[in-house]
Amino acid sequence: MITLALSKGRIFDDILPLLKAAGIEVLDDPEKSRKLILRTNQPDVRVVLVRATDVPTYVQYGGADMGVVGKDTLLESGTQGLYQPLDLQIAKCRISVAVRDGFDYSAAVRQGSRLKVATKYVAIARDFFAAKGVHVDLIKLYGSMELAPLTGLADAIVDLVSTGNTLKANHLVEVERIMDISSRLVVNQAALKLKQAPIRRIIDAMAKAVAA
Ligand code: AMP
Repeated sequence: MITLALSKGRIFDDILPLLKAAGIEVLDDPEKSRKLILRTNQPDVRVVLVRATDVPTYVQYGGADMGVVGKDTLLESGTQGLYQPLDLQIAKCRISVAVRDGFDYSAAVRQGSRLKVATKYVAIARDFFAAKGVHVDLIKLYGSMELAPLTGLADAIVDLVSTGNTLKANHLVEVERIMDISSRLVVNQAALKLKQAPIRRIIDAMAKAVAA
């Protein structure tokens, strides 16, 4: 049995065509059922639904053989024990710094002010501002980062941006692009040895689909 860990939403929707190209079709619809283990058309392949931030943990400790997870989550949670054979080029976005419209970010940076930065991505933000030599107080949030500059909780946020519509709707502007993000295939290293043939088959088929 091969167990693939996925999270609901963007990644789940974007991975379906790549799975299909690898001959795997998910038979249960996570929007219609509350099942956490989904069957596929391959009797020896199943999907488990977990939170995005839990995908690396499931794969690292063998709760799943493989998983799909954003580079943002991987950078934030560490990649110990994970083989990363493939950039799947899905759920593409960027991780950026944004401030309230009207806040003079470059002046604040130039003057060496201490910036309050709210984010879910504390490790990524810490590395980014340290490399720039900008002093920051990081405030860890778990969601609705956009609210932080609007309420005075923070001067800036570090968050994922795709179309930019969420920032615009909340009167925020993107002032720095930290890095581009896409989802990666991660594989448990022991599983790769023990179930080499079926796992390799899936990786190769997905690689072909990504290249196409
Ligand atoms: P947008 O309005 O298209 O710029 O999307 C921004 C919102 O969607 C933010 O709340 C982000 O956290 C979230 N978001 C954008 N892209 C992704 C992605 N690839 N994976 C997860 N969340 C995302």
